[in-house]
Amino acid sequence: MIKTISFLGLGTMGAGMALNLLKAGYKLTVWNRSAEKCESFARKRARVADTPADAVRDVDLIMYSLSNDQAIEEVVFGAKGILSGIKEGQIAMDMSTVLPATSLREQKAYAKRGVDFLDAPVFGSKQESADAKLWIMAAGNKAIFEKVKPVFEHLGQTVHYLGKNGNAAAMKLVGNLIVALELEALAEGLVLAQKAGLDLSTVMEVARVADFRSPLLVSNGQNILKRDFSTSFALKLMLKDAGLIEKFGESLESPIPALRVVKKNLESAVALGFGKENASALIKALEKEAHVEVNAHGVG
Ligand code: NAP
Repeated sequence: MIKTISFLGLGTMGAGMALNLLKAGYKLTVWNRSAEKCESFARKRARVADTPADAVRDVDLIMYSLSNDQAIEEVVFGAKGILSGIKEGQIAMDMSTVLPATSLREQKAYAKRGVDFLDAPVFGSKQESADAKLWIMAAGNKAIFEKVKPVFEHLGQTVHYLGKNGNAAAMKLVGNLIVALELEALAEGLVLAQKAGLDLSTVMEVARVADFRSPLLVSNGQNILKRDFSTSFALKLMLKDAGLIEKFGESLESPIPALRVVKKNLESAVALGFGKENASALIKALEKEAHVEVNAHGVG
């Protein structure tokens, strides 16, 4: 039974998950590159580690949610990284969005040390992480998955077992391909509606009920109309994911023509300086081209 957990990476997603683990009563160790994000956890009696290698000491399960492959390189494989401190019999779990090939590389490195590994990325964003309502996918040894399952129940509303290592990472990229296209569709649709002089509140009311409805379209659409681009999922992370999906699609010779277009739009929005805003800020690249600003008043 898992009783002690280390959580590395207390960003938008990690902070919510780590807090829910504390609330669930696990003995928690935390580590974050920028130490100030550990302070609120120290006040809640979590142990704060100095390095990733120190963080993994004496715990049953090591979980991490980090930005990208570069962060995995440093935190897992780097000097004073997880691999330099981890011991046989421990379990490691990567909840970041990375290439399936990265998950497999991690699994091999851990296996050399007698450590089991799950790739376990998530759907949902800041709010779902805080509310323990994530949609979790996990892949790796089934017996290890079963052992970790009670932990997932404190973090998410669903958990799916995907089979062999790398499959959960692949599922995450499949899902984010759809997310990226949905966001682009929403942005193009709202700009077109604005140009057509439609009342955008009515446009969103229709979008809420019609057969193309989706929670993602509704929440992002409402926020765009309010000009609220506060970050739940950073635009620069969406661009990072578009790059991963492109690589993954190419490696399997699977066509991704629309994704390539969205990636270009994301690049434009990042180049305009919106990378730290929410991914929905990709609309700003289209607005610039269209010489309009989409807002609740529906006036360009
Ligand atoms: P975030 O808020 O930007 O947090 C990123 C975390 O990674 C921070 O703890 C950051 O440390 C750390 N980090 C970045 N580069 C590092 C490095 N080189 N060395 C050590 N630590 C490093 O990102 P997030 O939104 O929580 O996302 C985390 C992961 O979940 C990403 O892979 C993302 O794609 C995925 N994801 C995000 C969402 C979402 O809606 N936000 C949803 C599903 C999946 P500092 O605090 O020091 O910067």
